[in-house]
Amino acid sequence: MARYTGPKCRICRREAGKLFLKGDRCYTDKCAYERRPYPPGQQGRRRSKLSDYALMLREKQKVRRMYGVLEDQFRMYFKEAERRRGVTGANLLAILEQRLDNVVYRMGFANSRDQARQLVRHGIFTVNGHKANIPSMQIKPGDEVVVSESSRKTPVIQEAQQVIARRGCPDWVEVDGDNFKGTVKATPQREDITFPINEQLIVELYSK
Ligand code: SF4
Repeated sequence: MARYTGPKCRICRREAGKLFLKGDRCYTDKCAYERRPYPPGQQGRRRSKLSDYALMLREKQKVRRMYGVLEDQFRMYFKEAERRRGVTGANLLAILEQRLDNVVYRMGFANSRDQARQLVRHGIFTVNGHKANIPSMQIKPGDEVVVSESSRKTPVIQEAQQVIARRGCPDWVEVDGDNFKGTVKATPQREDITFPINEQLIVELYSK
């Protein structure tokens, strides 16, 4: 399935929640979901009660779209989450959080995951001293993500400190803004993810 390239705010309205897909705009009163918190389309305001299956499907789509992951890859992550020890739902979220594009976003080097993905593809980061341009790369505790010297003057990187001040930085990453680098301190735990996600619905959906 191809990546969705339509209006991002439409996704938030479709999934009935703010997914923070547009960076700074999401924190302002220009947010489309704040202004029209109902699904798009003519029938939007008349949303009928969802079936159990639809609820599970919507939760999976919400998380998949939030992290910008395609269906096949998401399913692969689920299989890996099942294979690991521990709680499958929490494992799945940890895998998603540890993608390089998400880590860059969490460190404040990008305003949105989409932007982070773009920056990663442009090859402006190194991981443990090696060029890293694959957004899905898994970043492990102890790994160091550094902005390359030549890209440190780009506005988005220069603004990283302000982004962190505005948005906050999760406990599992540590950012050294003066030196344009960040370190993953630990595997993200379920309680580190404060965004409202009911991962159990996703587990039930894939277990059917
Ligand atoms: Fe979603 Fe609001 Fe951001 Fe648009 S501005 S992507 S509706 S959170």
